[in-house]
Amino acid sequence: MMEDTKKPRRSLRVSTPFSFSSSSYSPSLTPSSLPTVVQGPCAACKVLRRRCTDTCFLAPYFPPSEQLKFVIAHKVFGASNIVKALQELPESKRADAVSSMVYEANVRIHDPVYGCAGAISKLQKQLNDLQAELAVTQAELLIMQCQQQQQNEELILGSDWQPHCA
Ligand SMILES: [Zn+2]
Repeated sequence: MMEDTKKPRRSLRVSTPFSFSSSSYSPSLTPSSLPTVVQGPCAACKVLRRRCTDTCFLAPYFPPSEQLKFVIAHKVFGASNIVKALQELPESKRADAVSSMVYEANVRIHDPVYGCAGAISKLQKQLNDLQAELAVTQAELLIMQCQQQQQNEELILGSDWQPHCA
């Protein structure tokens, strides 16, 4: 009776104390997974060594599988600043804000002096170089078009001239 309702949930590894007889099937859970732990703490709680609850504010943005993301963001911004920044935003924009913070933190670690500004100025320089190259290429194209037009005109004039010469 109890087993029927609990069986589909067991596949999701939702905690169920083994109070009932488990003679019909052996527990497939690993010995380390305690009944109170469902999925393990989110990356933030794991790093900060605090208890992760169902209502954990950071859990949706830092799943257990992406611990490095939180480590990097925490190192640069600090967990409390991350939480503060996210609280000021509507929920729909928080995921984007998190990926932005993780990106910024990552760049800051690689370039402690300029951070994202360094990356932006590098890209800006690349853009300027490419625009200059494009301008040169467009000028060359224009010259070639003019030359071709001249050649065509000469050909037309030449074909006009041939009957007169013959
Ligand atoms: Zn958590």
